[in-house]
Amino acid sequence: MTSEIRKKMGVLGGTFDPVHYGHLRAAEEVLEALGLDGILFIPAASPPHKSQAGIEDFEHRCEMLKLAVADQPQFEVSDLERRLPGKSYTAVTLRKLQEVLAEGTELFFLVGMDAFLELHTWWHYRELFELSNLVVLRRPGHDEEWIPVFLREHVSPLYAWQAESGAFVHPRMLPVFVVRNTYLGISSTRIRWLAAHGKSIRYLVPHEVLRYIAGKRLYQSSSIHRVR
Ligand code: ATP
Ligand code: MG
Repeated sequence: MTSEIRKKMGVLGGTFDPVHYGHLRAAEEVLEALGLDGILFIPAASPPHKSQAGIEDFEHRCEMLKLAVADQPQFEVSDLERRLPGKSYTAVTLRKLQEVLAEGTELFFLVGMDAFLELHTWWHYRELFELSNLVVLRRPGHDEEWIPVFLREHVSPLYAWQAESGAFVHPRMLPVFVVRNTYLGISSTRIRWLAAHGKSIRYLVPHEVLRYIAGKRLYQSSSIHRVR
């Protein structure tokens, strides 16, 4: 991993089943807006919130991610969660990252609005606000006005908006940044549905990912008709 020398590292975890332009564009905009040195894409080996049965193999998801980020030297794919035993818990992953990255590396955990508003259901979720800066990505259908409500109810009433940093800040916990990323109503669920129905997914995913999906005939069986 070339990340050893980096100082501000973004982390985008997800199932990436498959990766799409919603993930990639949001990551690019966060990289620029917060002046990060790089972004690590970490596919979940065994996502706690999703039934394992319906998810594409880790190798395929990881391969598609690698193809998708190949032309952006500041993006990297990590198979860390496959190497960790058991379910893929973000708190464990972030702790592990702090061990393996160069000392002094500051972590920025990117999370879409939909996932952010469900963070309180994640294992040891409070710890996330101590281990890493958080960056909330806007996503159509999920109102940003819920961010302070969520923080107050589930994390701490001491989080307060600080306009100059574009973040909710706290006296002891780490900031929660809100980036004004482009709204892109793209989801992997929709892509799987389109592929399963023989419809085009062009311009929703990078061309290399499109070719990989077609070549391996992914998402074509009826087991893909699931919604999550
Ligand atoms: P699925 O429909 O299978 O849940 P997804 O499109 O939500 O797939 P995930 O792999 O679940 O993709 O998402 C990983 C992370 O990226 C999550 O934090 C999610 O909120 C965020 N994300 C996904 N799509 C977008 C998007 N279009 N805009 C902003 N954030 C997104
Ligand atoms: Mg999702």
